[in-house]
Amino acid sequence: MNKNKRPLYIYYGIVIVLMLLFNIFLFPYLQNKSVKEVEYSQFLEMIRTGKVTKVEEQDRQILFEVNDGGKVILYKTGPWRSKDLINLLEENNVEFGSQIQREPGFLMSLLSWIIPLFAFIAIGQLLSRSLLKQMGGGSGSMSFGKSNAKIYVKAETGKTFRDVAGQEEAKEALKEIVGFLHNPGRYASIGAKLPKGALLVGPPGTGKTLLAQAVAGEANVPFFSISGSEFVEMFVGMGAAKVRDLFKQANEKAPCIVFIDEIDTIGKRRDSNYGGNDEREQTLNQLLSEMDGFDGKKGVVILAATNRPEILDPALLRPGRFDRQIPVELPDLQGRIAIFKVHARNVRTEPDINFETLALATAGASGADIANMVNEGALRAVREGRSAVSQRDIEESIEVVIAGYERKSMIVSPEEKRIVAYHEIGHALVTACQTHTAPVHKITIVPRTSGALGYVMQVDTEEKFLMSAEEIFNKMVILCGGRSAEELIFNTKTTGASNDIEKLTQLARQYIGYFGFTEEFDMTALVERNNKYLGGDLSYNVSDESLRQYDEAVFRLIKKAHEKAIEILKENSGAHHALANYLLEKETITGEEFMEILKRYRDDI
Ligand code: ADP
Ligand code: MG
Ligand code: ZN
Repeated sequence: MNKNKRPLYIYYGIVIVLMLLFNIFLFPYLQNKSVKEVEYSQFLEMIRTGKVTKVEEQDRQILFEVNDGGKVILYKTGPWRSKDLINLLEENNVEFGSQIQREPGFLMSLLSWIIPLFAFIAIGQLLSRSLLKQMGGGSGSMSFGKSNAKIYVKAETGKTFRDVAGQEEAKEALKEIVGFLHNPGRYASIGAKLPKGALLVGPPGTGKTLLAQAVAGEANVPFFSISGSEFVEMFVGMGAAKVRDLFKQANEKAPCIVFIDEIDTIGKRRDSNYGGNDEREQTLNQLLSEMDGFDGKKGVVILAATNRPEILDPALLRPGRFDRQIPVELPDLQGRIAIFKVHARNVRTEPDINFETLALATAGASGADIANMVNEGALRAVREGRSAVSQRDIEESIEVVIAGYERKSMIVSPEEKRIVAYHEIGHALVTACQTHTAPVHKITIVPRTSGALGYVMQVDTEEKFLMSAEEIFNKMVILCGGRSAEELIFNTKTTGASNDIEKLTQLARQYIGYFGFTEEFDMTALVERNNKYLGGDLSYNVSDESLRQYDEAVFRLIKKAHEKAIEILKENSGAHHALANYLLEKETITGEEFMEILKRYRDDI
């Protein structure tokens, strides 16, 4: 509340002036009012009877004291100037012309000061309170330059490393920080310095925020958390003030953790070329100087998270600041199994869930995706009135996350359905008739909310870390399978292949310019990945001349894949018809059903 002192000082000043005025003018007036007034004739009578002891002539009245048997009473009467009065006074031995001392009495004088004082204070309080409310804030919005932003101190985040599945390397690195927070003194006594800050980097949803909370939970220390985006929405000058406050509070509460989420929003590289953002730079500068300023031995550890480490200002990454980077990557197969298990703990599941199958079907999914899938599965179980989540629920929800909800209400004409069925079986056939491809898991022509009219789901039997040139090419051929089927069977081309085409082209570009699989361009990087963790686009890195050659090579590669797909479908047209009809009838078929029918036509698979 001390931020309001300034306006209140002014107010108290006004109060004192008012009280002085009150005492000088109003109070005597009131006092005067209380003096009893008598007729002039009565006054003269009183003089004659010897009761009057003192007389004072004032401007417009005569004040006199009467001794009424030992008690002095004050009277007043109107002016009546005459010589006789003085004679009369002299005759009766009355003191006159002297000042009559008025003693208001101790209580009266006390009240004359205290009552107004209290009244004014009370009014002042009311006024200042309503004033604050009007200005729209709780305490202290009347002052700027000092941040009033709440800083969250959650003594317990409630999270521990047990809640973070997989990410063993990251946890290992963070355990050292936990040890440090438990006992900063042990490090100090040896003279070992722990990094002041660690930066968690990785794609969205991999558990960076979760890990930071888990560190606080494990170390059992206060957790000051702030998100970079919160700085952005603040008034000018507030960002830096907030950083200052944050570190001040953290210093008082040490040992503790300061967590700056999404640090890229303030930590962006400072460059003058593009008329930099002053506010952001101020905030960043404040952060840099605070990081230098605080005593690393005290036990304040700064964690930050970002998925765009490449745009961070180099000053943030130099030793003494965020010199330790902890990668938090997308989970591998074991990691996904573990994450499924962690989240399945929170819902009631049937006992026979096969987590490995689920994990195999979710290659490339992040922890957040998996959490979402388990939850979608639980919602599905509730919708269908069951009391536990089944394997089927989660499998369905995996597809929901990948392809969107089923749109049973969408009406697809029989002719379109036929095209979709042949298109999808085209993909599946090309998949099955090539080597080095992931097996077909499921084929469906039930439309999805994402707009897909059908799709083939492939699930690898094991986790893949490397892909050969052949595998990438086979993948391209699979992507060509749908359109090839439309051309072969219906002699038409539909827009249903647009998504395939997009992926195909990107893959072809990478095949040549990113993976260096062709002889023509050898191991030259023709494209660059923009941001590693956000699935960023490729940007070109070539002269106009070679760009043309590059494009031509991409055309040729795609054409080659397309031709191979057509060739495969031509060879298997019997199976194609049989499978497409079966799919039209069932709408959704499993990989096993698919293989069973295919084997009737081919004995080599
Ligand atoms: P990030 O900060 O990396 O974008 P979060 O930490 O916010 O991701 O993760 C979002 C949610 O995803 C978490 O609340 C958690 O439910 C889930 N999650 C992510 N990674 C994991 C993991 N390794 N183990 C368990 N849950 C995870
Ligand atoms: Mg996060
Ligand atoms: Zn397709």
